[in-house]
Amino acid sequence: MNILKLGGSVVTRKDKPKTPNIEAIGRLAHEVASAGPRRLIVVHGGGSYGHPLAKEYDIYVGYSSPRQLSGFSLTHQAMVELNRLVVEAFLAEGVPAISIAPSSFIVTEDHRIADADFSVVSRASESGFVPVLYGDAVLDSAHRFTILSGDQLTARLAIDLGAKRIIFGVDVDGVYTANPKLAKEARLIEELSLNQMRGMVRIGEALSTDVTGGMLGKIQEAGAAVDVGVEVQLVNALKPGVVKDALRGEKIRCTWLRR
Ligand code: ADP
Repeated sequence: MNILKLGGSVVTRKDKPKTPNIEAIGRLAHEVASAGPRRLIVVHGGGSYGHPLAKEYDIYVGYSSPRQLSGFSLTHQAMVELNRLVVEAFLAEGVPAISIAPSSFIVTEDHRIADADFSVVSRASESGFVPVLYGDAVLDSAHRFTILSGDQLTARLAIDLGAKRIIFGVDVDGVYTANPKLAKEARLIEELSLNQMRGMVRIGEALSTDVTGGMLGKIQEAGAAVDVGVEVQLVNALKPGVVKDALRGEKIRCTWLRR
């Protein structure tokens, strides 16, 4: 089984509130369809749908005022809207996608998934569906609620369901020596070991609004999956054909995270 995480930088235009990248969503659905049938779970990020609202209402720090309750709902609803666009794009390509809302079955403990019951996700996948989940506003046992990032969710799904590989689709070719959007001299790192990942304390921050730590947060979350033997690949999902080639196991320009 593979897990394809489509970043918020891919499925939305991060610089414009609530703006989907319809062209990319449709193309990626087509690429998944043409890569052929296989067990696949898709997780997408929030980008300009979830993050601005989560930030406006401080959802990721937990409860401090009653106005956040509506903010929580608005954040979740924004993700439902984006998820609908993603699922509809897959359906239009004949991929039997089904939407599964993380907030309806995951309660985090101090911002982290402790023990989630992924049996519905796993059964849906075994039954031939492509479950489509997303970063979501979720209830939290310590802080009343928080934001569960698509990256944390992806790593946990991979670990708990024994996925072979995670493909993180982002808007750059992989992990660079510095933020490629800020530093001209940044070079792509083709392979990164767990030790190197742990050592990468300063990796730069994502350019636009993001409450989940950009690339550094991503490799920290992915590290947990790499640790138990999941192969993790970071690829540029905005370049046509890259995700299809990755799904087919073809050689592409990317970063591999390995033990
Ligand atoms: P997404 O929301 O799509 O999951 P993020 O926007 O959180 O992804 O993270 C990807 C972004 O991280 C890239 O667009 C890039 O600007 C930024 N980034 C920061 N440092 C690095 C780095 N060293 N290598 C690659 N990308 C980096």
